[in-house]
Amino acid sequence: MASTPSALVLGAGIMGLSVAWGLARRGFAVRVVEQDAVPNPRGASVDHHRLIRHAYGAQAGYMRMVDPAYAAWDQVWRDINEVLHIPTGVLAVSGSASGWLGESRATLAADGLAFTDLTAAEVAARFPIFTEAGIGAAFHMDAGGVLLAERIVAALARHLAARGVVFERARAVAVDAARASLRLADGGERSADQLVVAAGPWAPRLLPGALAPRVVASRQILVLLEPPAQHREAWSRAPMLLDLAEDGGFYAVPPVAGTPLKIGDHRFSRTGDPEADSRDATPAEAEEILAFARPRLRDMAGYRVIGARACYYDVEDRERFVVEPIAPRCLVMSGFTGHGFKFAPVLGLAVAAALADPAVLSGLPAWAAGESRPAPGLLAALESLAA
Ligand SMILES: Cc1cc2nc3c(=O)[nH]c(=O)nc-3n(C[C@H](O)[C@H](O)[C@H](O)COP(=O)(O)OP(=O)(O)OC[C@H]3O[C@@H](n4cnc5c(N)ncnc54)[C@H](O)[C@@H]3O)c2cc1C
Repeated sequence: MASTPSALVLGAGIMGLSVAWGLARRGFAVRVVEQDAVPNPRGASVDHHRLIRHAYGAQAGYMRMVDPAYAAWDQVWRDINEVLHIPTGVLAVSGSASGWLGESRATLAADGLAFTDLTAAEVAARFPIFTEAGIGAAFHMDAGGVLLAERIVAALARHLAARGVVFERARAVAVDAARASLRLADGGERSADQLVVAAGPWAPRLLPGALAPRVVASRQILVLLEPPAQHREAWSRAPMLLDLAEDGGFYAVPPVAGTPLKIGDHRFSRTGDPEADSRDATPAEAEEILAFARPRLRDMAGYRVIGARACYYDVEDRERFVVEPIAPRCLVMSGFTGHGFKFAPVLGLAVAAALADPAVLSGLPAWAAGESRPAPGLLAALESLAA
């Protein structure tokens, strides 16, 4: 009788948990090594929300990965017995019809995905919480929404523990990819048939040869707001806002399911140390984001700043995910930049399929990098797993 295959996963952010989920569903015995508590407020996966949307500039590969991502989330909801996604739709605005907004329109239209163009006046009339200042082009899409990130991480970890996945709180100080093993800070060693390193913004330092300088940690700032009383009802029905500007722009996540309104930055700082640095944002860092939002949010003076914090993620230069074998029994998942969360379950299912079948593995890196459609083996694996 064949013995149960085993897997070791480093990191219990959404990527590590998702790959553990995919592997457990395939019958692997899985151990997850995580240095912090789960959910980990120092990790890239944890605050109230993350967005899922099809608009992806010219990156057709990631746009096409969104429907499979939704199918994988549906499987997560079935497994955790709870739906932690709030549909909101998407409003994208920009100073001009070129650039990211224009590329998104063209890429969406080429694949027949539905959106509605809006003039500046139509934006302000339909969503009076926003001004029409400086809007040269805009569109609205019904599809898209908010994933309740912290609650998802907590629920998935609970589900996995109940399913027999072992969680070990320990810090890995070295990765031996060839032996699929981790050396722990207390001198212990853990190994398995397969090792997956999903260490978020800590990964480039842990695997400098495989990742640096391709992937760097990046400190990003978020500001939490409470809308003024007269706009609260409109915000409860508001779409996510993607406000693109030449010099960066900002995004706004509506205050859904008891969460605060959140605004953040489209630019990457490409600086900072996720291990050493504080997660408190300085007043100057918060002000940079508020300055982007001020012209767009009507009656901005009436918004109360609840708080501001820093978060780290792992930026790949072209925002392409790095999901690659670095040794015959070791695979790394990195470079998720500011857009990986929505794809975690579909990537987790894909990695699990690839570790069980070398034919699937060969097409995985290019698909995960948004550069190709899934190879037939991967497609079949995703369809059967999410069925
Ligand atoms: C502010 C912000 C906004 C974002 N918005 C979106 C969005 O709207 N939509 C979207 O799809 N994505 C978004 N993202 C991106 C997404 O959240 C990340 O791509 C994703 O969460 C990365 O998950 P991860 O598991 O790789 O990393 P993490 O969540 O950081 O998990 C890595 C884990 O590994 C552990 N670890 C690291 N090194 C070690 C070690 N040596 N020993 C033991 N444990 C270790 C860490 O403690 C950590 O818990 C956003 C990210 C941020 C920060």
